[in-house]
Amino acid sequence: MSNVDIYGIYQELGIDSKVFDYCQQVEEKLMPRFFEIDRIAEFNQAKVLHSMQKHHLSAAHLNPSTGYGYNDDGRDTLEKIYADVFHTEDALVRPHITCGTHALHIALAGNLRPGDEILSPVGKPYDTLDEIIGIRPSTGSLAEYGISYRQVDLLPDGSFDYDGIRETIGEKTRLVEIQRSKGYATRPTLSVERIGELIAYIKKIKPDVICMVDNCYGEFVEEREPSDVGADLVVGSLIKNPGGGLAPIGGYIAGTKECVDRAAYRLTAPGLGKELGANLGTIQSFVQGFFLAPTVTAAALKGAVFAANIYEQLGFRAIPKATEERYDIIQAIEFGKPELLVAFCEGIQAAAPVDSYVTPIPWAMPGYDSDVIMAAGAFISGASIELSADGPMKDPYAVYFQGGLTYPHAKYGIMKSLQRMVDKGIKIW
Ligand SMILES: *Cc1c(COP(=O)(O)O)cnc(C)c1O
Repeated sequence: MSNVDIYGIYQELGIDSKVFDYCQQVEEKLMPRFFEIDRIAEFNQAKVLHSMQKHHLSAAHLNPSTGYGYNDDGRDTLEKIYADVFHTEDALVRPHITCGTHALHIALAGNLRPGDEILSPVGKPYDTLDEIIGIRPSTGSLAEYGISYRQVDLLPDGSFDYDGIRETIGEKTRLVEIQRSKGYATRPTLSVERIGELIAYIKKIKPDVICMVDNCYGEFVEEREPSDVGADLVVGSLIKNPGGGLAPIGGYIAGTKECVDRAAYRLTAPGLGKELGANLGTIQSFVQGFFLAPTVTAAALKGAVFAANIYEQLGFRAIPKATEERYDIIQAIEFGKPELLVAFCEGIQAAAPVDSYVTPIPWAMPGYDSDVIMAAGAFISGASIELSADGPMKDPYAVYFQGGLTYPHAKYGIMKSLQRMVDKGIKIW
């Protein structure tokens, strides 16, 4: 052991010796696990770096462009780098993409035509897609444009319902939407390998169907991405993993040239596509964020593994389990009691670099059927690659925890959440 007075500094930050000792003892056993996570980060770092060098990324590329953004070499080079890392023909990486939901909408709306059908073979997609697809009636939904939707749920054991999928793929099926992360559902997150098996099965039935993967929270968690196993399109948000904590906004769509082009015509306008779109000075943060993304994702993953181990050993249910393989950066913990969920979020907030002094309070968020408590003290508003937590105030009082730009910060957040419970006199030991 080194002689760095780590406990001294934690004491100043309000961590008592019992919490500290418990956390240190849990962490010590995680070293082999952390080593594996670092190996994947090392691999992905090399992959990103290699593509930056291959495309001769230069200082001039980092300059802002304005107006129409014609001949924006920085933007075009960034998109080549993304395409290279995802092993796709092309990519669209833009600050004009508002968020992950917007990126998914462009990809869907750009690639579907009236009469087409979308299939989700992995159950209901992320909540914000309800109104895009028209699962919940909504102005401007794909349903209003005559695009239909069908869904095949996973089987009770979490496996794909291959028979159901075969029966549901029909004449009209044009695009298959596969969500990698579980989001707020209870199913397990899909590994890249499982996504590959699913795509292979679907393509055997209908080779020309477009397989699109909602890749949110999954980027750089494994060595491979869904586009390495047959996905025609992968879509995600830059204020999650691939923005590396630096991108202030944005989304990406990587895939076949045809599919990316069609999405680009939807983002800007028919006839304009990828040719336009000034970067307004975002390019530096996009490029540098992508450079940092593999290690930032690794930090978030270590934080998730640490949290699962800390709370599972205290008797709470962690999803995924403490020892389980990870395919995204999300960690859920079921507390079973509202006061524990609240204390957890208060601790995460108190550990934040920004707004650490405010107290999160459950509130009635639009679109939810119960109050929701959220903790986030982020440099980029709403960025969930930064340490953040939220949970609906209803049974099983589960918190969804993610992010951490550095592992020490994620670790401190979890320590602080436990300390908060202790300080409030909640019996946990
Ligand atoms: C975050 C997320 C989205 C998009 O959400 P935004 O808040 O619009 O960025 C879509 N799907 C999944 C699985 C997500 O985690």
